[in-house]
Amino acid sequence: MDDKEKESNFIFSYIDKDLEDGVYADNRVHTRFPPEPNGYLHIGHAKSSLLNYRTALKYHGTFNLRFDDTNPEKENMEYVAAIKKDLKWLGIEWEDHEYYASSYFPQMLDYAKEYIKKGIAYVDDQDMETIKQTRGNLTSPGTESPYRNRSVDENLSLFQDMIDGKVPEGEKVLRAKIDMSSPNMNMRDPIIYRVRHMVHPKLGTEWHVYPMYDFAHPIEDAIEGITHSLCTLEFEDHRPLYNWFLEHLDEFQHEPPRQIEFAKLNLSKTIMGKRYIRKLVDEGVIDGWDDPRLATISGLRRRGYTPEAIQNFCEEIGVAKANSTVDTAMLEHFIRDDLRTKAPRYNCVLHPLKVTITNWPEDKVEWLTIETNQDVEEMGCHKMPFTRELYVEQSDFMKEPVKKYFRLYPGNEVRFRGAYFVTCQDYVEDENGNVIELKCTYDPETKCGSGFKGRKVKGTIHWVSATEGKPVEIHLFNSLLKDDSRYTLDNLLDKINPKSLEICHGFAEPEVLKLKSFDKAQFVRNGYFSVDPKYSKPDHPVFNQVVPLKSKWRPPKKKN
Ligand code: ATP
Ligand code: MG
Repeated sequence: MDDKEKESNFIFSYIDKDLEDGVYADNRVHTRFPPEPNGYLHIGHAKSSLLNYRTALKYHGTFNLRFDDTNPEKENMEYVAAIKKDLKWLGIEWEDHEYYASSYFPQMLDYAKEYIKKGIAYVDDQDMETIKQTRGNLTSPGTESPYRNRSVDENLSLFQDMIDGKVPEGEKVLRAKIDMSSPNMNMRDPIIYRVRHMVHPKLGTEWHVYPMYDFAHPIEDAIEGITHSLCTLEFEDHRPLYNWFLEHLDEFQHEPPRQIEFAKLNLSKTIMGKRYIRKLVDEGVIDGWDDPRLATISGLRRRGYTPEAIQNFCEEIGVAKANSTVDTAMLEHFIRDDLRTKAPRYNCVLHPLKVTITNWPEDKVEWLTIETNQDVEEMGCHKMPFTRELYVEQSDFMKEPVKKYFRLYPGNEVRFRGAYFVTCQDYVEDENGNVIELKCTYDPETKCGSGFKGRKVKGTIHWVSATEGKPVEIHLFNSLLKDDSRYTLDNLLDKINPKSLEICHGFAEPEVLKLKSFDKAQFVRNGYFSVDPKYSKPDHPVFNQVVPLKSKWRPPKKKN
């Protein structure tokens, strides 16, 4: 990492300062990524996990993967497996540092009892609604619970009843006794434990009380010896509580973790947030968590993104202290940049229009040699069949050309990429006036690579042999959301762009049949495409459009 990056990353500055001040013994730095296994990871999680992982690497520290499985309601082991797969794919390694918050449940009970014994936690019999209403608001203080001053013994015994499963859900909670008139609402006697008679994905039915996030998280961090607990901005107001929970436990007086907040990643016209994505999956609006239109890691992978592109993107956006929305075009820039030299380039016609080369012999097939990637000599050459019947894009022909249209129209000559110059002589229409075929001639003198220098043509178009080419199914994508207006769980379905997926049936040069699941190619003039791992079959290739060729976003000029 260079100096510029160091300067721009305020998290590194904080850590540097801590190291200077000798806050942590042996200058150790220990970070963690704490996903809740209640859904698949998305690009925001990529930013957070890579940030934590790279921070540990930079300081020769340690990185923990910790599943924050404290809320059994929506968690399951399928998500644990998916999260691990995605993190590995992103290039993150945690060796044997894989932890589960639920394995600290016994310890957490002890800490809760320590608060009770210190007179700073109590069992409250008020229901959730009452607790909510008596919290007050930003302008008025909350009201103390009538159960707030129970004796230590009574609290211990009632808490034990909760633990033992003797208390129905919603009847009692354990609360911290802090300050009902604190200007910080989080400090108004927050709930520590609630009763839940549920099946936990790892622990089964053994547990009847579950810890709340604000209590559990600092304790998980402290147990693991985390030094810098990086989290998103919405937890800034929770930091005093994070510290309070640790300050009041004897065990964590030494080198407690420090919470540092950074801004969440938001991407334009992209759904972020697992509960929204889960809703679309459950409603069948999309094709699972790995739908290529999603910014989930599995969706981006299926679409054809590479880990390198995502890593570079996350590096470029850096970390900030203010929330903002990043243009999706910027993410697209990084995948295009990565694939430019990695992907072979092939001819593929997405919306075919038939062309007959009237002066080409009926059964003749000429195998033309073409460079596989003009920017990477090492990728060599491959062969492409030219025949009498071909396909070109419908948009490459106009009956009456508009200004500056240099492609096919009656009387105009264009270059067929890697082949010959071809002149449009005539066109055939169906009974509705749709053009269904072009009649063209080719000039044998103009073969590509023959050194022909006779004349220039302005347009070059791609084409595929109608007889030797292969049918392919292509999935073209638009943003999943119609616009950037706010969405909620209730209106989400109305915000979905009905044109987010277009399926077309095209033709590609035979070489594309060599591509396997997740392989990528540039389809010349049309963008980058990747073989869909779910639907593609050897006799029926299905391609996802990774990204079009052109972008609105350009990287800032680097100053030397
Ligand atoms: P979501 O709101 O999408 O469900 P979450 O925050 O509930 O996300 P967790 O599994 O609890 O998901 O989060 C794991 C880590 O990822 C947390 O540290 C969280 O702050 C971070 N994170 C979540 N979303 C983003 C984002 N958009 N940008 C950066 N970090 C994020
Ligand atoms: Mg969450």
